[in-house]
Amino acid sequence: MRISTDFSIAIAGAGLSGLCLAQYLMRAGIDVHVYERDQSPFIRQQGYRIILDRYGLEALRESLPRPLYRLALATGDEPGGRLRFTDSRLRDAFTITFKDEPDATRQVDRATLRSILMTGLDGRVHYGRAAAGVDGGGPTGLRLRFADGTSVPADVVVGADGVGSALRAQLMPDADPAGTTMAGVYGRSPLLQRGGSVIPDALRTSGVLSIADRPGRAFFFTSMRFGERPRQAFARVAPGSYAPTDDDYVMWGMLMRQREVPAAARGDLLALRDLAVRMSADFHPLIRRLVATAELDTTVLNPFATGRRPQQWAVPRATLMGDAVHVMPPFGAQGGNTALRDAALLGRRIADAKASGMPVEEAIAEYQDEMVPYAFRAVDTAAALMRRLTGDAAAPHWVLTRVLPRLHRVTVPES
Ligand SMILES: Cc1cc2nc3c(=O)[nH]c(=O)nc-3n(C[C@H](O)[C@H](O)[C@H](O)COP(=O)(O)OP(=O)(O)OC[C@H]3O[C@@H](n4cnc5c(N)ncnc54)[C@H](O)[C@@H]3O)c2cc1C
Repeated sequence: MRISTDFSIAIAGAGLSGLCLAQYLMRAGIDVHVYERDQSPFIRQQGYRIILDRYGLEALRESLPRPLYRLALATGDEPGGRLRFTDSRLRDAFTITFKDEPDATRQVDRATLRSILMTGLDGRVHYGRAAAGVDGGGPTGLRLRFADGTSVPADVVVGADGVGSALRAQLMPDADPAGTTMAGVYGRSPLLQRGGSVIPDALRTSGVLSIADRPGRAFFFTSMRFGERPRQAFARVAPGSYAPTDDDYVMWGMLMRQREVPAAARGDLLALRDLAVRMSADFHPLIRRLVATAELDTTVLNPFATGRRPQQWAVPRATLMGDAVHVMPPFGAQGGNTALRDAALLGRRIADAKASGMPVEEAIAEYQDEMVPYAFRAVDTAAALMRRLTGDAAAPHWVLTRVLPRLHRVTVPES
């Protein structure tokens, strides 16, 4: 068996988990390179925000140099807030309140976070490199192979290449994700419109899931208000790094059955937004306004899928993280948090192996044994929440949209 205590790591995918792992390993003095399929860092707009929970925040705290972690918090939204479940007219059914503590939950802009995660990785993130497979595995180590036929050597290969992972079929052959019946069209609209906030005061710190009268349709929205303006905060803490946006926005998602998405709308931004406009016709005027004022280039279709528990890991010294292993529907906001948690855990295991002289394959096996239970608990929770909130079962839907909203006063008047 090849025993290596000084190793090079190749990561496929410069998303949240790939960059977070690279930061961890850099700090541990381990040679790491990240290979990203996109031609440049911000080629796709997709301006959505994510809610970091204590796992995501703890992973960032452990992986990033302290000033970069503070930058992530400084540019994030204020801590705390609520998630409201309402009917289509924005009458409350029930509300979840988040802890008002800086390290409990935090809403951040994903593109800004990604830029923070890239800071300091100069020369180590390579764009236009689409991973295609892993070769070797004997005493000469592995090679990460790319779609253009080239390859790079590495002692360890990590697939962090997201839901459509090109490495998954080889590394985790029995665990392709399962499709679901649901999809979301996501978009972003300016928070400030006609000189004021489009979101009324009553919803200032709330995310809202507005459930339609017909099962299988719902609308989600939340505002992203930067704490400190990213450009100013970057200039202070990370001069030279790129702040992708400075403007507060409302992120929204129209959730629907996949069969309701016409083939023509897949990959066509105008058709996608038109679909969201049509589907929002019966919702509260505020929701219709958000869809009507969306920035076109941020519109994206996301068909929901659920990861399947891997039974075997086929290539020792090669593994997967994040959505590549355990994609989940976006209910409960755990996908990115779990991906970051994976990155910190794998980083810790590899760094410990380096320090103790433990074979790196054992460190990777430990990571996999620990990751699968927590990650698939999150997958199961997200899938169950999706079924409960958008499924066909008549009784829960009736309680959510007809009974509970009648017990509450109107949150946002319609005029
Ligand atoms: C609208 C929306 C809202 C969300 N909100 C939340 C939230 O509030 N909280 C939360 O925890 N999660 C949220 N998520 C989920 C979260 O964004 C994902 O779970 C998270 O980004 C997964 O991280 P990752 O590193 O596994 O993959 P990604 O961040 O998707 O990164 C994968 C990277 O790999 C690259 N890539 C793909 N194929 C290849 C290849 N062959 N070779 C090289 N590179 C490749 C991609 O270009 C990409 O850069 C949300 C998702 C969406 C769509």
